[in-house]
Parts: sequence; structure tokens; C-alpha cells
Amino acid sequence: MVLSLALLLAVLPQAAERAASSRITAAEISGHVRFLSDDLLEGRKPGQPGDELAIKYLASQLEAYGYQPGGDNGTFLQAVPLIELHVDVPREVHFKAGDKDVMLHALGGTAADLILEPNAHIDRATLKDAPVVFVGYGITAPEYGWDDYKDVDVRGKVVVVMNFNPPFKGAGVRLWYGRWDYKYINAAKHGAAAALVIHTTPSAGYPWQVLANRADGTHQDLPPTDDEPRTMQFQGWISDPAAIKLAQESGQDLDALRKAAESRDFRPQALGATLALDMPVHRHEIRSANVIGILPGRDPRLSQEAVLYTAHHDHLGKGPPPPGTSDGIYNGALDNASGCATVLTIARAATAAAPKRSLIVAFVTAEEQGLLGSKWLAQHPPIPANRIAADINLDSVNRWGRTTDLGVLGLGKSTADDVVRKVAAEQGRTVHGDPFPDRGAFYRSDMFPFARVGVPSVAVKGGPDFVGRPKGWGEEQAIEYERKHYHQPSDEYHGDWDLSGDVQDAQLQLLVGLRLANAPQMPTWTPGDEFEAARKSASR
Ligand SMILES: [Zn+2]
Repeated sequence: MVLSLALLLAVLPQAAERAASSRITAAEISGHVRFLSDDLLEGRKPGQPGDELAIKYLASQLEAYGYQPGGDNGTFLQAVPLIELHVDVPREVHFKAGDKDVMLHALGGTAADLILEPNAHIDRATLKDAPVVFVGYGITAPEYGWDDYKDVDVRGKVVVVMNFNPPFKGAGVRLWYGRWDYKYINAAKHGAAAALVIHTTPSAGYPWQVLANRADGTHQDLPPTDDEPRTMQFQGWISDPAAIKLAQESGQDLDALRKAAESRDFRPQALGATLALDMPVHRHEIRSANVIGILPGRDPRLSQEAVLYTAHHDHLGKGPPPPGTSDGIYNGALDNASGCATVLTIARAATAAAPKRSLIVAFVTAEEQGLLGSKWLAQHPPIPANRIAADINLDSVNRWGRTTDLGVLGLGKSTADDVVRKVAAEQGRTVHGDPFPDRGAFYRSDMFPFARVGVPSVAVKGGPDFVGRPKGWGEEQAIEYERKHYHQPSDEYHGDWDLSGDVQDAQLQLLVGLRLANAPQMPTWTPGDEFEAARKSASR
């Protein structure tokens, strides 16, 4: 008698898991990283030939593994219509406070007081004596009984907003409400003509230079939707000293206003200043793509549902070589050739396990431009969002060796965590949450757009406790990487990483995906979670 593969798998799921898991090797990951981070790919900037090469490589690999095309018109590519907007920012911006002229610098790198970016997809950004209003945190959160705007009309006004959020989920925990991108969306929904987020290092998590050095009036966007209106003349940042000065010249005490904004009784406060401004805006379209492959599930019914793996393929491109370096190519070896390489390796390994639900593997574009590729995919998924069991996202893997622990972003948000805990325990690893909850990493990663349409997330990485290393060593590596290599041309690959920890993580991510794909039920959000309602209202 010959057992069919399906029967064999049904009888011996552990054998299938073992067969798949043993296919994951450091050599395979290394090979993909080496190609994807090569200088030839010129930093994989969306719309540039180097990223096209990466896209073709990823699609070819999925085809070779036997995946079905999940993109447009029977291909592996899903076109993503990016729009690049550039605003010609004046050197000086003049506010009027009574009869006083308050001049702020909008150019000049770290010396700038303001950073201005386009918001609406228009030809000119124009303000005519628009009143400036302080709106506290600028948050409308009915589930926390919080609304900074109340019934105050801010239409046509420039709102000045505090970064971060009140301690809705404990002190120092940043939510989506505490992200600057949320502040802009909510200001636009209230009809504001412009929004400026006040920068302070504690509330942003990074110093003013990080914003000011990169600011050039340009950003990429998707076509606007009702959900995320782009109706403001501009968006941007104001430095803390400049915000204090603007309030002071208008006869207000910013610190007193900020103190008042910590209360739910706060009401928006006109500063008494106005702003007139006229800036040309330039637009052009950029063609980029998500790469999508599908491994059809073996169960006739459950194969209509899927587990999703994601990793972003884009990076920052190239620029003038910084002093002391040979080239200006931002290779993005760790960020995120490593995540793509690992997802490819998981994708090939998974074909040995024939899961019941389908697997969707998606390499998304324009993460560095604001999660644009994943946002597009979440809005245009190959199967309805409510049939996607979970998104397992990989961004910048562990390259420092094996660990005794595992960090989980958004730990406690869904029942997918139970599967993560189980597999981690089988590996002899302990599980903990985000080591830096103030940074809001969950809301800055590609799983976030999927969470917003109700898809639970799995975002894990080994560390910071490394096998055979003293306590604190892992944090040191992470900090050194951030300081020296993060978003720098030196994020390169020379075959010198210890990928044993990534193999450990990839095996976990594979097994978690297989178990989610084989479970009778899909995971559910923790009751009361911020994304639970999205799951319930999503179409099937
Ligand atoms: Zn990055």
C-alpha cells in the first residue's frame, strides 16, 4: 500500500514540520543577502533599476519554488502607484502675532526651525492669514474617552500638535495615536489647513538632526483615500525652541498649554498668530511593485484562507559618498535584504510541508517612504483581508548568533502569540515584549497596515540575550548598529555575519506559519484590542 502525501502529512504533522525546518540553512540566507545587497542594485530605491533587479530576482525565486503568481494579470508583480511630491520651501517663514513679525527658518539643515512637506496632491500650497491653533495631542480616541478637538472648528487653520500620546496603555507606551502620521491624518479629517508637530527629543525618540538632515521638501505617497485624506496645504515639524518662541511672541506660555493638554478636559487654544504662505508643489509618478507568490493550501476549504509572510525589498538608493567612505550606496544589507533572504528561505522550506491553508509570500515596496507598499497590499490583497490568518513580517534580522530569548512586537494583542510561545518553548527560548515600547516599532513596520485591516501580526526577533555572551552584549550590538550602520552606506554584507540566530528565528517563523496554516481556527485579537473592530467589519 502506498500512502498518499496528504495522508502521510495528516498522520505525521511533526515529520512534515521537521522536513521543512531542516531545509533552512545559513548558506541559503547568506546567498540571497549577498545578491540583494550587492552594489549593482544601487540601494534598491523604489522606481530605480536596482530595485527592479531585486523585484525580478524575488519573483524568479518564488516561481522556481513552485509558487503561483499572486500579482496583477497572472504575474508575480502587483503594481504600486507611488507619487513623489516636492514642495519648494522658502528660506524664511513669517508668522504674524498682532503687529509682531515672527520669522522662522524653514531651510538650513539642523539650523532650521521648521520642516515643511507636501500633504495635498496639489500644484501650490497656499495659506492666507490662517490662524494658528494649539490642539494638544491632536487625538480623537472615543475608546479612551479622549477628544482633543472637541467641538472647536479648526477648518482652514494651522494646528500645532504635541507628539506622543497620553498614558492610555501605561506610561511611556506609544500607540498609533502617538505617531506623527496619525496626527496629520486626524488634523486633515478635522479640516485643518496645515499641521505642525512639535519636536522634542523625548516625545520623538530621536534628536532634531535626524529629521532636519534628511528634510528636502520631498516625500512619496499613495493616491489619497477617504480613510487617509490629504487635504492640507502642508504638514511638518516645528522645533521645540521655535514653538516656544512662536507661543511667547503671541502672548502664550507653551508649557502651560502643554500641561493643560494632559487633561481630557483640554480644549484647543488659538495662539493668536497667523500664517500666510505660498509654495509651488511638484508631482511625478513612480512605478514600483510588490512581489506576491501563493503556495496553495492542500485542504479544499481552508485553502481559501492564508498565512501571509512579508518583508520589504526597498531601501534608500544612493547619495553623495559621506566623508571617509568609498561609495554612497545605501546597500541595506540588514535593512532589509536580510528579511527578504530569510522569507525566501522560509518560502522554499514550506513547500516540503504542504500546509492546509495557503501561504502568501509578499515582498513589499516603499517601506522606507512610509509603509506604502504594505499599505497598498493591505488595501488590495490577493484574497479578502478577513481570510488572512496572520501576517508574519521580517525586517532586519538577527545577525549576531543564537539567543536564549525572543522579542515579540505587540505581544498580547492576539492569540497568534500562543503559537509563538509554544514554538519558542520547544526551542528552549523565553518570550518577552518590545524592549523599547516608547518607540512604537509596531506602528512603524509593514505588519501595521495589515493590522489596520484586521490581520493579526507576528513580528519576532531573537535577543537581546545571546548564547555564550555576557548580559548587555546584545543591547550593545543593537546600539552600535543603530549608531554606525542604520540607514548608512555601511549597512553592507561581507559574509561575516553569524546567521545561526536568524536560522533559529526562521525555523520559528516557519513553524508558527505552518501551525497557523493547519489550525482549525484562525487566530483572534485579544478582546478590546485596538484592531479587533477592523477584523469584525472586514469583508470575507
Ligand atoms: Zn529602514
